[in-house]
Amino acid sequence: MTARTIAEQVRAGERRATEVVEAALVEIATHDSDLHAFTEVHTASAREAAEAIDAAVAAGNDPGPLAGVPIGVKDNICQRGRVTSCASKILEGWQPPYDATVVGRLAAAGAVIVGSTNMDEFAMGSSTENSVYGPTRNPADHSRVPGGSSGGSAAAVGAGMVPLSLGSDTGGSIRQPAAFCGVVGVKPTYGAVSRYGLVAFASSLDQIGPFAANVGDAALLLEVISGHDPLDSTSLDAPAPSLVAHLDEGVAGLRVGLCKDLIEGASTEITAAVAASAELLAAQGAEIVEMSIPELHYGLSAYYLIAPAEASSNLARYDGVRYGLRVDAANVAEMNAASRTAGFGDEVKRRIMLGTYALSAGYYDAYYAQAQRTRTLIIRAFAEAYASVDLILGATTPTTAFEIGAKVSDPMEMYLSDVFTIPTNLAGHPAISVPAGTGAGGLPIGVQLLGPALSEERLLRAAAVIEKGRA
Ligand code: GLN
Repeated sequence: MTARTIAEQVRAGERRATEVVEAALVEIATHDSDLHAFTEVHTASAREAAEAIDAAVAAGNDPGPLAGVPIGVKDNICQRGRVTSCASKILEGWQPPYDATVVGRLAAAGAVIVGSTNMDEFAMGSSTENSVYGPTRNPADHSRVPGGSSGGSAAAVGAGMVPLSLGSDTGGSIRQPAAFCGVVGVKPTYGAVSRYGLVAFASSLDQIGPFAANVGDAALLLEVISGHDPLDSTSLDAPAPSLVAHLDEGVAGLRVGLCKDLIEGASTEITAAVAASAELLAAQGAEIVEMSIPELHYGLSAYYLIAPAEASSNLARYDGVRYGLRVDAANVAEMNAASRTAGFGDEVKRRIMLGTYALSAGYYDAYYAQAQRTRTLIIRAFAEAYASVDLILGATTPTTAFEIGAKVSDPMEMYLSDVFTIPTNLAGHPAISVPAGTGAGGLPIGVQLLGPALSEERLLRAAAVIEKGRA
């Protein structure tokens, strides 16, 4: 059942939120010991919230557009009084004293948070294997990764444990796991969704977004969490867009660029899925134009300087004094070092070292400044592309989900998982991964649609055409 149907029925008093939430808790109890998508299930508070929604409906009040819909929230989005650890030992047991803006918006819309979802430590990774809680498994094949870093959120929806979840996307962490788990994932325009209460990884790239089992539900969740927030200085001063109302308006007359640089290097089955998706769009009146944006090839290199540089600065706050883990030592400097040595995992340490190096005197110009110039080139190249096309179509990932353990000892291979998703983050633009069939072994395939800033409505419309065409 879709989130929209659940909410409609709960609002109309035809179904009780308590029943919906109990059913989700049963699904989690049945599947999550194998999948490990959740870091914590919030049974008691979810039941309480569901009861309050049923009471509101009984009293003739409307609990909101997500009334009674169970949802999972990535473990890097602050939930007041609940452990928000970013799957890191350094934040073990840390309970934020405040809710992220998106968490408040979920509650105001009647959604019920049933659990926190697993992730790569501080959202650094593409497989959810860099988690202090251990890995999450792909619901389509338990020997494979769900993608990352929002792998728990993707697996929770992919396995049908919850209809919706929230993730964060800095370089692909919503779209790549969505593709691996056969669900819809949206990375919104930078600034469209408040980052207040999202634990910072790379602040100029981070964005919260929805996972859903279908495009319509993703549109609804995105509507609920979007819109200006004075608590986030980078929040766009624009009202939440109306997305669901325009979902069925189709793609007639839209020019869609089939972007060679976002396809080359993908497996043959993924390349075929992209071509099939282009045909579905064309059959509904879109004009498909082949195009190339060669600058996108520099995205990965620029990202792996900019993201670690920002991370090295953001993660300086975990010093053993203010948050979480402290390892005592003879003096403050030694305590800082001992706490960070014990608290951070290998990948996080690698990023901090990379970033610190890129920002250090003598190397700043050659690395960090050069990466920023490259970022500008990519932004200009996209702007030029969008002067002649309305949307861009490509692959979300080069391959389907890989085996657990396959890339842990080769960081470069892991980084390459995001080669098609990273350019969007550098530009601050929105993009969506939508399921486009399965490949060998029944593994899900996702295709990616990209658009200029604030083109979410158009992206979702096109994704809906692909979804419907495959049905
Ligand atoms: N996999 C990329 C990285 O490790 C992207 C992560 C993300 O989007 N949070 O940085």
